Amino acid sequence: MATRTSRKSSSNGTLKSFNPRTGEVLREISSVAPGQVRDYVEQARKVAPEWAAIDPAGRARHMREIRVRLKDRADEIAEIVSAETGKPHHESLAHEVMGSLFLLTYLEHLAPKVLKPKRLIPVLGPILGYKARMEFRPFGVVGCITPWNFPITNTFLATASPLFAGNAVVVKPSEVTPASGEIIRDLLDVLPSGVATVIQGGGEVGAALVDAPCDKISFIGSPPTGRKICETAAKHLTPVVMELGGKDSAIICSDADVDLTSSGIVWGAFANAGQVCASIERAYVVDAIADDFQEQVVAKVARLQQGEDFGSLTFKRQLDIVTDQVADAVKKGATILTGGPEAGKRNENGTLWYAPTVITDITEDMTVLKQETFGPVLTIIRVRDEEEALRRANEDGVNLTASVWTKDAKKRERLVAGLRAGSITHNMHIETSVGPWGTWGGVGESGFGRLNGELGLLEFTVPTHVSFSGMPKMKRGYWYPYDDTSKRFTRSLIDFLGSKDAPHKLSALKAILKDFTKIAKSRW
Ligand code: NAD
Repeated sequence: MATRTSRKSSSNGTLKSFNPRTGEVLREISSVAPGQVRDYVEQARKVAPEWAAIDPAGRARHMREIRVRLKDRADEIAEIVSAETGKPHHESLAHEVMGSLFLLTYLEHLAPKVLKPKRLIPVLGPILGYKARMEFRPFGVVGCITPWNFPITNTFLATASPLFAGNAVVVKPSEVTPASGEIIRDLLDVLPSGVATVIQGGGEVGAALVDAPCDKISFIGSPPTGRKICETAAKHLTPVVMELGGKDSAIICSDADVDLTSSGIVWGAFANAGQVCASIERAYVVDAIADDFQEQVVAKVARLQQGEDFGSLTFKRQLDIVTDQVADAVKKGATILTGGPEAGKRNENGTLWYAPTVITDITEDMTVLKQETFGPVLTIIRVRDEEEALRRANEDGVNLTASVWTKDAKKRERLVAGLRAGSITHNMHIETSVGPWGTWGGVGESGFGRLNGELGLLEFTVPTHVSFSGMPKMKRGYWYPYDDTSKRFTRSLIDFLGSKDAPHKLSALKAILKDFTKIAKSRW
C-alpha cells in the first residue's frame, strides 16, 4: 500500500489517484506535458466556430446528453468520487451528481432564452431610422481550471456556462482528483468531437493553459493561484472569472430557532468535511442564546458518524492547515468544545481523517479566525448583539457567502442589507452554490465575475452591438457636410435630449423632423 505523499505530476507524466481514507493508490492516469497544451488549445480553436454556429437550443440538446449519461452512471460515478475524495457515498450522489444535474437542467432551459439576440430601442430610433440589437457571441476557447473539493460539480460549474454559450472548452481538472477528471472526460465525450477537451496535469499544466493563451479563463480555486493566473492573463489581456475562497460567516440572532439553526450550522460547517468554499467557518451568536446554541451544536456533532455522515479530508495540504490552525488557536487560549486532533478516527498510514471540531474563545490574533480553513472546523464567536455580529462578519474575514438566522423578517432584511458577500442566505447556508437560478461569485478576495444563471451565461459571451439603418437610402444628419442644416440639426437634438419638459421636447422634435427631411435628400 503506497502512502500519500505528493499528488504532483511525476516526471513520466502520470498522476496518482489515492484513497484518502486508506492511503492506497487507486489508479494512475496519464497527464499531458505543459509543452503540449498550446496544441490542444489550437485544436479547440479550429472546432470552436462549428459549435458556435449551432443555435443555443441545438447546443442545449447536445448538452442534455451529458445530463442523461450522468444520471445513468450516477452510482458508479459516486463510487469513484467517494473513493478518491473520502466523502461519504451519499454526499457524492447528492452534491456531485444531483448538484451537477440541477445546474445542467436549469441552464438547458435558460440558455436558449438568455442567448437570443436582444432587440434594442435607440433614442428617437423610429424617427431617425435607427434599428439595433445585441448579439451574445461566444469568445472562442475558454480554459477551465478547477479544484478537487467537488471535482464533478465544480468542474461543471466552471465549464457548463461557457459551453452553453457556444465556446469550445479546454478543461484542466485538479491533479488531486484525477480519476474524477476522467469521469469529466467521459461525460463531455458526448459532445461533438473537439468541443470539450480534458487535459490532466498539475499547476504547471494549468499555467500553460492560461499562457496558451485562451480567449477567456474560468477559474475556481484558491486566491494565491488566482493571483498567478491574473498575472499571466494580464500579459495577454485575457478576461478571467475568478471563483476563489472565503471565510464565510453566519449571524445567529437572539430570536433564532435554536434547534433549526444548530442543525443548519452543523451541516453548513461539516458537509464535505468542511472542504467547501462556502462552508460556515465563523458563527457569530448573540450572547442571549449562545449557551443553548453551543450545547445543541456539540450534541449534534456528537451524533455524526465518521464514514457515514462525515468523510475524511481529501488532500494532505488541508490536514496540515487544519492541524496548524487548531494548534495555533489552542496555544492562544481557544477552547475545543468537541473534536480536535485526538478525536475521532486517527490519521494513520498516511490517511486524512480529522474529526469535526468546534472551538470557542476565539481572539483576533488566531489564524483560524482570519485565514480560510477549508476543513472541519467551526468557530463559535459570542457577540453582544446583532450589530456587533454584522460588523465582525464583514471585518474579520471575507465572505464568499454569508447567512442570517432569525425568525424576524425585518431583522433579516436589515442584516442582509449590511452584509458584504457574493451570496446571502436566510436560515440556510451553502445550498445556493448549486442554485443556477441565481448567480455564483464572490466579493473582494473571494473573487470576481459570475458563474451560473443569466449573468453566468452572459459572462462567456462577447455582447456585440449591431446597428443598422431602417431607412437604407438615408444619409445621416451628422455626416458631412457640416453646413447650416446639419449644425441646426445637431442643436435641435441637443435641445430634445436636454429639455426637461414636454413642450420644449416637442418643439425640438419638430425642428429635427424639418431638417431631417432636407438631410435625407442631401446630394453631397
Ligand atoms: P488551487 O488554487 O490549489 O488549485 C486549483 C486549480 O488550479 C487546480 O486545478 C490546480 O492544478 C490549478 N493551478 C495550480 N497552480 C496553477 C497556476 N500557476 N496556473 C494555473 N492553474 C494552476 O485550489 P484547490 O486546493 O484545488 O481548491 C481549494 C480552493 O478553491 C479553496 O481556496 C476554495 O475556497 C476554493 N474554491 C472556490 C470555489 C468557488 O466557487 N468560489 C469553489 C471551490 C473551491
